[in-house]
Amino acid sequence: MKECLLPDCCERNAEIDMLVLHCSAYPAAKAISTYREAKVSAHYLIDETGEIIKLVDETMAAYHAGPGFWRGRSDSCNMRSVGVELVNLSLGQTPYSEAQIAALIPLCKTLMQKYRIAPENVVGHSDLRPTGKADPGVCFPWQRLAQEGIGLWYNQEDAEKVKENNVSVLLAKIGYNTADEETTIASAYAFRRRFLPEEVQTDEDVMHLVDNVYPVGDKSLLSGDKFINCLKAVVYRYETLENSSKGLYIGR
Ligand SMILES: [Zn+2]
Repeated sequence: MKECLLPDCCERNAEIDMLVLHCSAYPAAKAISTYREAKVSAHYLIDETGEIIKLVDETMAAYHAGPGFWRGRSDSCNMRSVGVELVNLSLGQTPYSEAQIAALIPLCKTLMQKYRIAPENVVGHSDLRPTGKADPGVCFPWQRLAQEGIGLWYNQEDAEKVKENNVSVLLAKIGYNTADEETTIASAYAFRRRFLPEEVQTDEDVMHLVDNVYPVGDKSLLSGDKFINCLKAVVYRYETLENSSKGLYIGR
C-alpha cells in the first residue's frame, strides 16, 4: 500500500463504529493536492487501477464527512468513522473500475472486522448528508458489496411484512435524517440513489451535480409504489437485523 500522509486530521474522541464511502472527481494525485489545499482528508483513497493510498492513520480522525446524521446521531461523523474515497471522475455517474471494487471489498471487510462496524453503519456520504452531498453516486455497487456483508440490501418480497406506510417514519427507521420536510425530501432522494439507482436522473455535468444534490421541493420524491415498496423492504432488512442479532458483524 502506498502512503501519502495528509496533515489535516486530529485525535479521535469516540470509538470507531462507522464506515463512510465517498468518491472524488479528480485523479488520485490531483485529489490529494486538492484535499491538502482544502485542509480535508480521508483515511484511504483508491485510484482507478485499484491501488490503495493511505492518507491518514486510522487511529486519527480524518476530515471527510463533516456534519451529518445517521441512526439518531448527529455528533461528529468524522470522530467515529473511517473514510474511504474512490476516484470516479464523474462523481459516481459512470461505473467504478473492477480493480477499484476488487480492492475496496477486502479493505472494507478488514475495517469492519477490526472495529466491529455493523453493516447498517456502512454508509455513503450522501446518506449522512443528503442535502449537501451526492457521493458515492448512482453507480456505486451497493448490492454487490452487500453480498459480501458490506452494508445491507433487500429482498423485494419482504415489503409486505412492513405495515408502516409513513415515508418519513420509514426513512428514519433506516437511519436517514427526517428533521423537516426539505431534509426528508433530500433523504428520499439519497435513498433512491442508493437502493433504486435506476430511478435517479444522472447528469453529465459533474459541477452541476455538486451544486444540485437533490431536486429541492420536489414532493413527488416522497411517493410512488415502487419507492414505497422498496423503502419497506429495506426497513424490514434493517429491523430484522436489529431484532435478531448484533452478531452479524463480519468475522465475529
Ligand atoms: Zn464525500
